[in-house]
Amino acid sequence: MMGVAVLAAPKWMTAAAATYSADGSAVKEKTGVGRMKLSWAPYELQLRHSFNLAKFSRTTTPDVLVKIELDGVTGYGEASMPPYLGESVESVTRYLSAVDLSRFTDPFRMTEIHEYMDSLAPDNRAAKASVDIALHDLAGKLMGQPWYKIWGLSPERTPDTSFTIGIDKPEVVRRKVEEAAPYKILKVKMGLDHDTETVDIIREMTDRPICVDVNQGWDDKHHALEMCHWLADRNCLFVEQPMPKEMIDETAWLRERSPLPIVADEFLQRLDDVRRAYGVYDAINIKLMKSTGMREAKQMAELAQALGMDVMLGCMTETSCGISAASQLAPLAKWADLDGNLLITNDCFDGTKIVDGKVEIPRGRAGIGAEIKG
Ligand code: MG
Repeated sequence: MMGVAVLAAPKWMTAAAATYSADGSAVKEKTGVGRMKLSWAPYELQLRHSFNLAKFSRTTTPDVLVKIELDGVTGYGEASMPPYLGESVESVTRYLSAVDLSRFTDPFRMTEIHEYMDSLAPDNRAAKASVDIALHDLAGKLMGQPWYKIWGLSPERTPDTSFTIGIDKPEVVRRKVEEAAPYKILKVKMGLDHDTETVDIIREMTDRPICVDVNQGWDDKHHALEMCHWLADRNCLFVEQPMPKEMIDETAWLRERSPLPIVADEFLQRLDDVRRAYGVYDAINIKLMKSTGMREAKQMAELAQALGMDVMLGCMTETSCGISAASQLAPLAKWADLDGNLLITNDCFDGTKIVDGKVEIPRGRAGIGAEIKG
């Protein structure tokens, strides 16, 4: 394994060609016939720049690509496993080996399938997301429609996406800001010593708005409040996870006083966590790899909005498979951070693009809107 970069999509991905059309005509009669077949293959994502966060640094992200086949139609999914989330190729493979989709007659029974997946193991959220995404892709292809349409969302209502500038040496930060020229919002990682330097360098170069992700890096609420004021003077839109997720009272204290919205990320994973965020955070960052996929992500977005909170749509480093799936929900989000596919050099899918800084969902593609690169 050491030093061997996996640059091409595994052969397995194209082994059975999908036969679907945009209007679904070719496949309509096949719905519910036969049994779903789940398969998967590990795929190591190569990062464009080493990823430096408050607590660690790395150059690859382990990933598992998933497909579900039914009567010649194939749905694709993906599990991305940044190490800090506790999942690995081994744990995802073990989980997927236990999933028997042949017991379900069709991919539309998502409630039932999710109950079944949760009954197999309580966690394994990325593994569950990979099955959920592939199910949505398959079901959307069987219906001949993209998910934003099935959900009744307007694709032109997607937000701008931010582009991440990590913590790095000044010359690297400058190069990344130049690379980020097409993006209207820059996302800055903070939470290490001297972390105001990155913001200062960006502000020397551009007045584009920034947003800040602290990744739980500030553990003193007075310092956090001081930083929120400092950032508010520098055209910052919001601050993500400023304090450790366990510091709930301190975060609520900060939220009451902060001139900038406070967004929850590490604090929450799934639907049950949304209510806990109410009164503590102004908004929640939903990611498919945390939420167990598209189905629960949509439920989270709707609950957050019903509670008066804003929605941010985020991602891990992922291929355009996961990013396209997430983007189907983008019309529900106030902010998007869907740059995970732009941060890797071996994206084996084509799908959602960023056009003039804005999330552009592919209009004519059924399912999640991703296709294997030919
Ligand atoms: Mg974050």
